Amino acid sequence: IRQKIVAGNWKMNGSKESVSLLVDGLLKMEGSSAQVVVAPAFPYLSQVSGMLSGSHIVLAAQNASDQPKGAFTGEVSTSMLNDFGVKYVLAGHSERRSLYGESDAMVAHKVKAILAEELIPMLCIGETLEERKSDKTLEVCERQLNAVIELVGIDAFENIVIAYEPVWAIGTGVSASAEQAQGVHESIRKYLSTFSVSVSQQSQILYGGSVKASSSQALFAMPDIDGALVGGASLDADEFIAIIKAAG
Ligand code: 13P
Repeated sequence: IRQKIVAGNWKMNGSKESVSLLVDGLLKMEGSSAQVVVAPAFPYLSQVSGMLSGSHIVLAAQNASDQPKGAFTGEVSTSMLNDFGVKYVLAGHSERRSLYGESDAMVAHKVKAILAEELIPMLCIGETLEERKSDKTLEVCERQLNAVIELVGIDAFENIVIAYEPVWAIGTGVSASAEQAQGVHESIRKYLSTFSVSVSQQSQILYGGSVKASSSQALFAMPDIDGALVGGASLDADEFIAIIKAAG
């Protein structure tokens, strides 16, 4: 049985003070059966890492370089993230793909660099509204998965978390319905099974896109939804805790 993951992607939000208040709030929560993850912006990783030590909440980064080190101004390597106690790293978030031009191939190389450091990639995939309207949802998800499968192989997916984040649901307040999300998650799992049945059964597939406490219970009740990648609602400790509780 797959453990649920509830991850908060704080994106480019926060200050020393607000981050401290948010983590304090989260640390008041009792233990959960779900794996709880928070992804602060880079400058706050050290602060949050210190606050989380000894707790059950683990640290994620929102991005990483595909290169190990060297003259790559402004980039952050996976070994640096490892140094700061990071366990998960997002790869290919739709904002990285659409606003910063990350191609499927670039995302695949980032996944490879994350795995090389024995960190767990959270590989984000998902279609735009236009792609959904033209019935390309699965085609897009499969294309984004293929780039990674071709580079690192299907067995590496034993150590990769997939986050299905339909672009039209991100930050819009319009979540996919639980049934809509389940349909895509089931198809993604089926697609993985064409490569490896055991990987498909093991893979944790998270849903992301306007997840709120109020919508999370229905999402988590679905057989192929193994948790959530939460943006806006993860910036409020009470709201995020309510989502974690919904995961059981
Ligand atoms: P929202 O929950 O704000 O829609 O963001 C989702 C997301 O992009 C998480 O990575």
